[in-house]
Amino acid sequence: MEIYDHPTFRMACRQFDSVADYLEIPEADRGRLKYPKRSMTVALPIHCEDGTIKVFTGYRVQHHLTLGPTKGGLRYHPEVTLGEVAALAMWMSWKCALTGLPYGGAKGGIACDPGAMPAVELERLTRRYTQEMIPFIGPLVDVMAPDLGTNEQIMAWMMDTYSMHMGHTVPSIVTGKPVGLGGSQGRREATGRGVGYLVNRATDATGLDIGKATAAVQGFGNVGSIAALSLARYGVKIIAVTDARGGVYNPGGLNLWDLEKHAARAKTVAGFAESEPITNEQLLVLPCDILVPAALERQITEANAGKIQCRILAEAANGPTTPEADVILSQRPEIFVIPDVLCNAGGVVVSYFEWVQDLQSFFWSETEVVDKLFRILETAYTQILTLSRKQKIPMRQAALSMGIKRVLEAKRMRGLFP
Ligand code: NAD
Repeated sequence: MEIYDHPTFRMACRQFDSVADYLEIPEADRGRLKYPKRSMTVALPIHCEDGTIKVFTGYRVQHHLTLGPTKGGLRYHPEVTLGEVAALAMWMSWKCALTGLPYGGAKGGIACDPGAMPAVELERLTRRYTQEMIPFIGPLVDVMAPDLGTNEQIMAWMMDTYSMHMGHTVPSIVTGKPVGLGGSQGRREATGRGVGYLVNRATDATGLDIGKATAAVQGFGNVGSIAALSLARYGVKIIAVTDARGGVYNPGGLNLWDLEKHAARAKTVAGFAESEPITNEQLLVLPCDILVPAALERQITEANAGKIQCRILAEAANGPTTPEADVILSQRPEIFVIPDVLCNAGGVVVSYFEWVQDLQSFFWSETEVVDKLFRILETAYTQILTLSRKQKIPMRQAALSMGIKRVLEAKRMRGLFP
Protein backbone atom coordinates (compact mmCIF):
# COMPACT_ATOMS: atom_id res chain seq x y z
CA MET A 1 0.00 0.00 0.00
CA GLU A 2 1.84 3.01 -1.32
CA ILE A 3 0.10 5.60 0.86
CA TYR A 4 1.98 4.25 3.88
CA ASP A 5 5.40 4.18 2.26
CA HIS A 6 7.94 5.33 4.86
CA PRO A 7 11.16 3.75 6.23
CA THR A 8 9.46 2.94 9.55
CA PHE A 9 6.45 1.34 7.83
CA ARG A 10 8.76 -0.70 5.60
CA MET A 11 10.59 -1.78 8.76
CA ALA A 12 7.36 -2.90 10.49
CA CYS A 13 6.36 -4.79 7.31
CA ARG A 14 9.74 -6.53 7.10
CA GLN A 15 9.39 -7.65 10.71
CA PHE A 16 5.87 -8.90 9.98
CA ASP A 17 6.94 -10.72 6.80
CA SER A 18 9.76 -12.51 8.56
CA VAL A 19 7.45 -13.67 11.38
CA ALA A 20 4.75 -14.63 8.83
CA ASP A 21 7.34 -16.81 7.04
CA TYR A 22 8.39 -18.35 10.35
CA LEU A 23 4.75 -19.06 11.31
CA GLU A 24 4.00 -20.22 7.74
CA ILE A 25 1.00 -17.90 7.53
CA PRO A 26 -0.72 -18.45 4.14
CA GLU A 27 -0.46 -15.56 1.65
CA ALA A 28 -4.25 -15.14 1.77
CA ASP A 29 -4.11 -14.14 5.43
CA ARG A 30 -1.11 -11.83 5.27
CA GLY A 31 -2.57 -8.69 3.70
CA ARG A 32 -5.50 -8.82 6.06
CA LEU A 33 -3.21 -8.98 9.07
CA LYS A 34 -0.63 -6.48 7.88
CA TYR A 35 -2.43 -3.48 6.42
CA PRO A 36 -4.37 -0.97 8.52
CA LYS A 37 -8.12 -1.26 8.61
CA ARG A 38 -8.67 2.51 8.52
CA SER A 39 -6.58 5.63 8.22
CA MET A 40 -7.50 9.28 8.39
CA THR A 41 -5.59 12.39 7.32
CA VAL A 42 -7.01 15.74 8.41
CA ALA A 43 -6.15 19.40 7.79
CA LEU A 44 -6.16 21.38 11.03
CA PRO A 45 -6.36 25.17 10.67
CA ILE A 46 -5.84 27.21 13.85
CA HIS A 47 -5.58 30.88 14.82
CA CYS A 48 -2.00 31.63 15.90
CA GLU A 49 -1.02 34.14 18.55
CA ASP A 50 0.45 36.50 15.95
CA GLY A 51 -2.94 36.78 14.19
CA THR A 52 -2.13 34.44 11.30
CA ILE A 53 -3.91 31.18 10.48
CA LYS A 54 -1.76 28.08 10.19
CA VAL A 55 -2.81 24.68 8.85
CA PHE A 56 -1.33 21.53 10.37
CA THR A 57 -1.71 17.93 9.19
CA GLY A 58 -3.04 15.26 11.55
CA TYR A 59 -3.28 11.49 11.17
CA ARG A 60 -4.95 8.53 12.83
CA VAL A 61 -4.46 4.92 11.82
CA GLN A 62 -6.54 2.05 13.24
CA HIS A 63 -4.74 -1.16 12.46
CA HIS A 64 -7.31 -3.85 13.26
CA LEU A 65 -10.67 -3.99 14.99
CA THR A 66 -10.90 -7.73 15.54
CA LEU A 67 -10.39 -7.94 19.30
CA GLY A 68 -12.09 -4.77 20.55
CA PRO A 69 -11.62 -1.02 20.23
CA THR A 70 -8.32 0.24 18.89
CA LYS A 71 -5.85 1.74 21.33
CA GLY A 72 -2.75 3.80 20.82
CA GLY A 73 -0.91 7.03 21.45
CA LEU A 74 -1.02 10.43 19.83
CA ARG A 75 2.35 11.85 18.78
CA TYR A 76 3.29 15.52 18.24
CA HIS A 77 6.53 15.77 16.27
CA PRO A 78 7.60 17.78 13.18
CA GLU A 79 8.38 14.63 11.19
CA VAL A 80 5.17 12.66 11.82
CA THR A 81 3.82 11.07 8.62
CA LEU A 82 0.99 8.69 7.78
CA GLY A 83 3.48 5.87 7.18
CA GLU A 84 5.20 6.33 10.54
CA VAL A 85 1.86 6.34 12.33
CA ALA A 86 0.77 3.21 10.43
CA ALA A 87 3.92 1.37 11.55
CA LEU A 88 3.36 2.41 15.16
CA ALA A 89 -0.28 1.27 14.91
CA MET A 90 0.81 -2.15 13.65
CA TRP A 91 3.27 -2.56 16.55
CA MET A 92 0.47 -1.58 18.96
CA SER A 93 -1.61 -4.48 17.60
CA TRP A 94 1.07 -7.06 18.35
CA LYS A 95 1.79 -5.44 21.73
CA CYS A 96 -1.84 -5.52 22.87
CA ALA A 97 -2.22 -9.12 21.67
CA LEU A 98 0.91 -10.42 23.39
CA THR A 99 -0.14 -8.86 26.71
CA GLY A 100 -3.68 -10.25 26.29
CA LEU A 101 -5.47 -6.87 26.11
CA PRO A 102 -8.85 -6.70 24.33
CA TYR A 103 -7.70 -4.12 21.77
CA GLY A 104 -6.48 -3.66 18.24
CA GLY A 105 -3.61 -1.25 17.66
CA ALA A 106 -3.87 2.39 16.61
CA LYS A 107 -1.69 5.48 16.52
CA GLY A 108 -2.16 9.13 15.71
CA GLY A 109 -0.01 12.14 15.17
CA ILE A 110 0.17 15.78 14.22
CA ALA A 111 3.16 17.18 12.33
CA CYS A 112 4.08 20.06 14.64
CA ASP A 113 6.81 21.14 17.05
CA PRO A 114 5.09 21.25 20.44
CA GLY A 115 8.18 22.65 22.22
CA ALA A 116 8.09 25.73 19.97
CA MET A 117 4.34 26.41 20.26
CA PRO A 118 2.59 28.55 22.87
CA ALA A 119 0.16 26.61 25.10
CA VAL A 120 -2.86 28.39 23.60
CA GLU A 121 -1.96 27.19 20.08
CA LEU A 122 -1.33 23.65 21.33
CA GLU A 123 -4.75 23.67 22.96
CA ARG A 124 -6.47 24.93 19.79
CA LEU A 125 -4.65 22.34 17.69
CA THR A 126 -5.53 19.51 20.07
CA ARG A 127 -9.20 20.52 20.22
CA ARG A 128 -9.44 20.90 16.43
CA TYR A 129 -7.84 17.48 15.90
CA THR A 130 -10.23 15.89 18.42
CA GLN A 131 -13.20 17.52 16.70
CA GLU A 132 -12.09 16.19 13.29
CA MET A 133 -11.69 12.69 14.80
CA ILE A 134 -15.12 12.54 16.46
CA PRO A 135 -16.73 10.37 13.73
CA PHE A 136 -13.93 7.79 14.09
CA ILE A 137 -13.28 7.56 17.84
CA GLY A 138 -15.20 6.56 20.98
CA PRO A 139 -14.65 4.56 24.16
CA LEU A 140 -15.71 1.40 22.30
CA VAL A 141 -14.18 2.39 18.97
CA ASP A 142 -10.74 3.99 19.39
CA VAL A 143 -9.10 5.33 22.55
CA MET A 144 -6.05 7.62 22.43
CA ALA A 145 -3.21 8.12 24.95
CA PRO A 146 -0.01 10.20 25.26
CA ASP A 147 3.07 9.43 23.17
CA LEU A 148 6.09 11.42 22.02
CA GLY A 149 5.44 15.15 22.47
CA THR A 150 2.04 14.77 24.19
CA ASN A 151 1.13 14.57 27.86
CA GLU A 152 -1.67 14.59 30.47
CA GLN A 153 -2.72 18.15 29.61
CA ILE A 154 -3.23 17.27 25.93
CA MET A 155 -5.34 14.27 27.00
CA ALA A 156 -7.40 16.54 29.29
CA TRP A 157 -8.17 18.90 26.35
CA MET A 158 -9.13 15.94 24.18
CA MET A 159 -11.41 14.53 26.85
CA ASP A 160 -13.03 17.95 27.35
CA THR A 161 -13.58 18.50 23.60
CA TYR A 162 -15.16 15.06 23.14
CA SER A 163 -17.30 15.47 26.27
CA MET A 164 -18.57 18.91 25.17
CA HIS A 165 -19.60 17.36 21.86
CA MET A 166 -21.42 14.44 23.54
CA GLY A 167 -23.11 16.64 26.13
CA HIS A 168 -21.80 14.67 29.08
CA THR A 169 -18.43 13.80 30.62
CA VAL A 170 -16.72 10.85 28.90
CA PRO A 171 -13.44 10.07 30.72
CA SER A 172 -13.00 6.74 28.88
CA ILE A 173 -12.39 8.49 25.54
CA VAL A 174 -8.65 8.87 26.34
CA THR A 175 -6.18 7.39 28.79
CA GLY A 176 -3.15 9.05 30.35
CA LYS A 177 -5.38 11.85 31.69
CA PRO A 178 -4.68 13.67 34.95
CA VAL A 179 -5.81 11.57 37.93
CA GLY A 180 -8.23 14.35 38.91
CA LEU A 181 -10.16 13.79 35.63
CA GLY A 182 -10.49 10.01 35.83
CA GLY A 183 -6.88 9.15 35.05
CA SER A 184 -5.35 6.09 36.69
CA GLN A 185 -2.90 6.09 39.55
CA GLY A 186 0.43 4.97 38.14
CA ARG A 187 -0.33 5.63 34.42
CA ARG A 188 2.27 8.37 34.00
CA GLU A 189 4.96 6.13 35.49
CA ALA A 190 3.72 2.88 33.90
CA THR A 191 5.91 2.63 30.79
CA GLY A 192 9.19 3.50 32.52
CA ARG A 193 8.32 1.38 35.54
CA GLY A 194 7.63 -1.59 33.26
CA VAL A 195 11.03 -1.07 31.62
CA GLY A 196 12.69 -1.23 35.06
CA TYR A 197 10.75 -4.37 36.01
CA LEU A 198 11.66 -6.19 32.79
CA VAL A 199 15.34 -5.21 32.97
CA ASN A 200 15.45 -6.58 36.50
CA ARG A 201 13.83 -9.82 35.26
CA ALA A 202 16.35 -10.03 32.41
CA THR A 203 19.21 -10.11 34.90
CA ASP A 204 18.24 -13.76 35.57
CA ALA A 205 18.79 -14.61 31.91
CA THR A 206 22.03 -12.63 31.67
CA GLY A 207 23.57 -13.20 35.10
CA LEU A 208 24.00 -9.44 35.48
CA ASP A 209 24.27 -8.12 39.06
CA ILE A 210 21.75 -5.25 38.92
CA GLY A 211 23.18 -3.58 42.02
CA LYS A 212 26.51 -3.13 40.22
CA ALA A 213 25.14 -2.35 36.77
CA THR A 214 25.46 0.86 34.75
CA ALA A 215 22.95 2.26 32.25
CA ALA A 216 22.79 4.79 29.44
CA VAL A 217 19.41 6.26 28.48
CA GLN A 218 18.53 8.01 25.20
CA GLY A 219 15.56 10.35 25.75
CA PHE A 220 14.59 11.98 29.03
CA GLY A 221 10.86 12.50 28.54
CA ASN A 222 8.08 10.53 30.18
CA VAL A 223 9.49 7.09 29.38
CA GLY A 224 13.25 7.76 29.60
CA SER A 225 13.17 9.72 32.86
CA ILE A 226 10.93 7.23 34.70
CA ALA A 227 12.86 4.25 33.29
CA ALA A 228 16.09 5.85 34.59
CA LEU A 229 14.54 6.46 38.03
CA SER A 230 13.09 2.98 38.14
CA LEU A 231 16.47 1.41 37.25
CA ALA A 232 18.16 3.60 39.87
CA ARG A 233 15.76 2.19 42.48
CA TYR A 234 17.00 -1.31 41.58
CA GLY A 235 20.53 -0.02 42.28
CA VAL A 236 21.62 0.75 38.70
CA LYS A 237 24.03 3.66 38.17
CA ILE A 238 22.82 5.91 35.32
CA ILE A 239 26.00 7.15 33.66
CA ALA A 240 24.65 8.92 30.55
CA VAL A 241 21.44 10.55 29.34
CA THR A 242 20.68 12.39 26.10
CA ASP A 243 17.68 14.22 24.69
CA ALA A 244 16.87 16.09 21.47
CA ARG A 245 19.10 19.03 22.47
CA GLY A 246 22.18 17.34 23.94
CA GLY A 247 23.44 14.88 26.49
CA VAL A 248 25.36 14.41 29.72
CA TYR A 249 27.84 11.78 30.90
CA ASN A 250 29.31 11.05 34.30
CA PRO A 251 31.04 7.67 34.76
CA GLY A 252 30.51 8.03 38.53
CA GLY A 253 26.72 8.22 38.03
CA LEU A 254 24.31 11.12 37.45
CA ASN A 255 22.17 12.43 40.29
CA LEU A 256 18.76 11.86 38.64
CA TRP A 257 16.75 13.96 41.04
CA ASP A 258 18.99 17.00 40.40
CA LEU A 259 19.01 16.18 36.67
CA GLU A 260 15.18 16.21 36.62
CA LYS A 261 15.14 19.65 38.24
CA HIS A 262 17.74 20.93 35.76
CA ALA A 263 15.82 19.47 32.77
CA ALA A 264 12.56 21.03 33.99
CA ARG A 265 14.28 24.44 34.16
CA ALA A 266 16.50 24.29 31.07
CA LYS A 267 14.12 22.13 28.91
CA THR A 268 17.09 19.85 28.21
CA VAL A 269 19.51 17.67 30.14
CA ALA A 270 22.42 19.46 28.41
CA GLY A 271 24.46 21.75 30.62
CA PHE A 272 23.86 19.74 33.80
CA ALA A 273 26.58 20.34 36.42
CA GLU A 274 29.12 17.63 37.28
CA SER A 275 28.93 15.98 33.87
CA GLU A 276 30.59 16.06 30.46
CA PRO A 277 28.65 16.57 27.23
CA ILE A 278 27.87 13.47 25.15
CA THR A 279 26.12 13.08 21.80
CA ASN A 280 23.40 10.58 20.90
CA GLU A 281 25.82 8.71 18.65
CA GLN A 282 28.35 8.40 21.50
CA LEU A 283 25.71 7.33 24.02
CA LEU A 284 24.53 4.43 21.88
CA VAL A 285 28.01 2.86 21.75
CA LEU A 286 29.07 3.74 25.30
CA PRO A 287 30.33 0.80 27.38
CA CYS A 288 27.50 0.11 29.86
CA ASP A 289 25.48 -2.87 31.10
CA ILE A 290 22.03 -1.61 30.13
CA LEU A 291 21.26 0.52 27.08
CA VAL A 292 17.80 2.11 27.02
CA PRO A 293 16.75 3.84 23.79
CA ALA A 294 13.68 5.84 24.91
CA ALA A 295 13.23 8.44 22.16
CA LEU A 296 12.69 7.73 18.46
CA GLU A 297 12.62 4.90 15.92
CA ARG A 298 15.60 3.61 13.93
CA GLN A 299 18.40 4.62 16.32
CA ILE A 300 20.23 1.28 16.30
CA THR A 301 21.14 0.60 12.71
CA GLU A 302 23.60 -1.51 10.74
CA ALA A 303 26.09 1.35 11.23
CA ASN A 304 26.25 1.09 15.03
CA ALA A 305 24.78 -2.33 15.97
CA GLY A 306 28.22 -3.95 15.80
CA LYS A 307 29.65 -1.30 18.15
CA ILE A 308 27.07 -1.39 20.91
CA GLN A 309 28.68 -2.45 24.18
CA CYS A 310 25.82 -3.34 26.53
CA ARG A 311 24.60 -6.64 28.01
CA ILE A 312 20.89 -5.75 28.00
CA LEU A 313 19.25 -3.68 25.27
CA ALA A 314 15.95 -2.48 26.76
CA GLU A 315 13.87 -1.02 23.92
CA ALA A 316 11.75 1.53 25.72
CA ALA A 317 11.04 3.47 22.50
CA ASN A 318 8.96 2.02 19.69
CA GLY A 319 11.01 0.64 16.81
CA PRO A 320 14.47 1.79 17.94
CA THR A 321 16.24 -1.11 16.16
CA THR A 322 16.14 -1.64 12.40
CA PRO A 323 15.84 -5.14 10.86
CA GLU A 324 19.40 -4.74 9.47
CA ALA A 325 20.66 -4.06 13.01
CA ASP A 326 18.67 -7.07 14.25
CA VAL A 327 20.65 -9.34 11.92
CA ILE A 328 23.88 -8.06 13.50
CA LEU A 329 22.49 -8.35 17.04
CA SER A 330 21.39 -11.93 16.38
CA GLN A 331 25.08 -12.75 15.84
CA ARG A 332 25.95 -11.16 19.21
CA PRO A 333 24.44 -13.54 21.80
CA GLU A 334 26.16 -11.58 24.60
CA ILE A 335 23.45 -8.89 24.12
CA PHE A 336 20.02 -9.74 25.53
CA VAL A 337 17.29 -7.75 23.74
CA ILE A 338 14.03 -6.87 25.48
CA PRO A 339 12.03 -6.03 22.34
CA ASP A 340 9.95 -2.85 22.22
CA VAL A 341 6.56 -4.58 21.97
CA LEU A 342 7.28 -6.14 25.36
CA CYS A 343 9.64 -3.61 26.94
CA ASN A 344 7.35 -0.57 26.74
CA ALA A 345 4.05 -2.48 27.09
CA GLY A 346 3.59 -1.17 30.65
CA GLY A 347 2.08 2.01 29.21
CA VAL A 348 -0.76 0.35 27.32
CA VAL A 349 -1.38 -2.14 30.13
CA VAL A 350 -2.07 0.66 32.61
CA SER A 351 -3.99 2.56 29.93
CA TYR A 352 -6.20 -0.52 29.76
CA PHE A 353 -6.61 -0.37 33.56
CA GLU A 354 -7.53 3.32 33.26
CA TRP A 355 -10.17 2.57 30.59
CA VAL A 356 -11.65 -0.23 32.72
CA GLN A 357 -11.75 2.04 35.80
CA ASP A 358 -13.40 4.84 33.78
CA LEU A 359 -16.03 2.51 32.30
CA GLN A 360 -16.88 1.25 35.80
CA SER A 361 -16.39 4.61 37.61
CA PHE A 362 -14.53 2.56 40.21
CA PHE A 363 -10.93 3.49 40.92
CA TRP A 364 -7.99 1.47 42.19
CA SER A 365 -5.05 2.30 44.44
CA GLU A 366 -1.56 2.68 43.00
CA THR A 367 -0.47 -0.53 44.75
CA GLU A 368 -3.27 -2.45 43.00
CA VAL A 369 -2.32 -0.93 39.64
CA VAL A 370 1.38 -1.73 39.99
CA ASP A 371 0.70 -5.24 41.25
CA LYS A 372 -1.61 -6.04 38.31
CA LEU A 373 0.84 -4.41 35.86
CA PHE A 374 3.78 -6.52 37.02
CA ARG A 375 1.68 -9.70 36.86
CA ILE A 376 0.79 -9.08 33.21
CA LEU A 377 4.38 -8.19 32.31
CA GLU A 378 5.67 -11.25 34.16
CA THR A 379 3.36 -13.58 32.21
CA ALA A 380 4.27 -12.03 28.86
CA TYR A 381 8.01 -12.02 29.66
CA THR A 382 8.02 -15.65 30.79
CA GLN A 383 6.02 -16.83 27.77
CA ILE A 384 8.25 -14.95 25.33
CA LEU A 385 11.50 -16.08 26.97
CA THR A 386 10.29 -19.70 27.03
CA LEU A 387 9.29 -19.55 23.34
CA SER A 388 12.58 -17.90 22.41
CA ARG A 389 14.61 -20.61 24.20
CA LYS A 390 12.48 -23.52 23.01
CA GLN A 391 12.43 -22.48 19.37
CA LYS A 392 15.95 -20.96 19.46
CA ILE A 393 14.66 -17.68 18.01
CA PRO A 394 15.48 -14.08 19.02
CA MET A 395 13.30 -12.46 21.69
CA ARG A 396 11.80 -10.05 19.12
CA GLN A 397 10.72 -12.89 16.85
CA ALA A 398 9.22 -14.74 19.82
CA ALA A 399 7.32 -11.65 20.99
CA LEU A 400 6.04 -10.71 17.53
CA SER A 401 5.03 -14.26 16.68
CA MET A 402 3.03 -14.52 19.91
CA GLY A 403 1.19 -11.27 19.13
CA ILE A 404 0.65 -11.93 15.42
CA LYS A 405 -0.55 -15.49 16.04
CA ARG A 406 -3.18 -14.32 18.52
CA VAL A 407 -4.57 -11.75 16.07
CA LEU A 408 -4.57 -14.35 13.28
CA GLU A 409 -6.43 -16.86 15.45
CA ALA A 410 -9.04 -14.24 16.41
CA LYS A 411 -9.57 -13.32 12.74
CA ARG A 412 -9.97 -16.97 11.81
CA MET A 413 -12.48 -17.57 14.62
CA ARG A 414 -14.57 -14.56 13.56
CA GLY A 415 -14.39 -15.40 9.86
CA LEU A 416 -14.52 -12.94 6.99
CA PHE A 417 -17.59 -10.76 6.61
CA PRO A 418 -19.74 -11.04 4.48
P1 NAD B 1 8.36 12.41 25.42
O1 NAD B 1 7.96 13.41 24.41
O2 NAD B 1 7.87 12.52 26.81
O3 NAD B 1 9.97 12.33 25.48
C1 NAD B 1 10.76 12.11 24.35
C2 NAD B 1 12.21 12.34 24.71
O4 NAD B 1 13.01 12.00 23.57
C3 NAD B 1 12.54 13.79 25.05
O5 NAD B 1 13.51 13.83 26.08
C4 NAD B 1 13.13 14.30 23.74
O6 NAD B 1 14.02 15.40 23.93
C5 NAD B 1 13.88 13.07 23.30
N1 NAD B 1 14.20 13.10 21.89
C6 NAD B 1 13.43 13.53 20.85
N2 NAD B 1 14.15 13.47 19.71
C7 NAD B 1 15.37 12.99 20.05
C8 NAD B 1 16.53 12.71 19.32
N3 NAD B 1 16.61 12.92 17.99
N4 NAD B 1 17.60 12.23 19.99
C9 NAD B 1 17.55 12.02 21.33
N5 NAD B 1 16.48 12.28 22.06
C10 NAD B 1 15.40 12.75 21.43
O7 NAD B 1 7.96 10.99 24.79
P2 NAD B 1 7.75 9.62 25.54
O8 NAD B 1 6.33 9.48 25.86
O9 NAD B 1 8.79 9.48 26.60
O10 NAD B 1 8.05 8.58 24.37
C11 NAD B 1 9.37 8.12 24.07
C12 NAD B 1 9.30 6.83 23.26
O11 NAD B 1 8.57 5.84 24.02
C13 NAD B 1 8.56 6.92 21.94
O12 NAD B 1 9.16 6.01 21.03
C14 NAD B 1 7.17 6.44 22.26
O13 NAD B 1 6.49 5.96 21.14
C15 NAD B 1 7.50 5.33 23.25
N6 NAD B 1 6.40 4.95 24.14
C16 NAD B 1 5.80 5.86 24.96
C17 NAD B 1 4.80 5.45 25.83
C18 NAD B 1 4.17 6.38 26.81
O14 NAD B 1 3.43 5.90 27.68
N7 NAD B 1 4.42 7.67 26.79
C19 NAD B 1 4.39 4.11 25.83
C20 NAD B 1 5.02 3.19 24.98
C21 NAD B 1 6.04 3.64 24.15
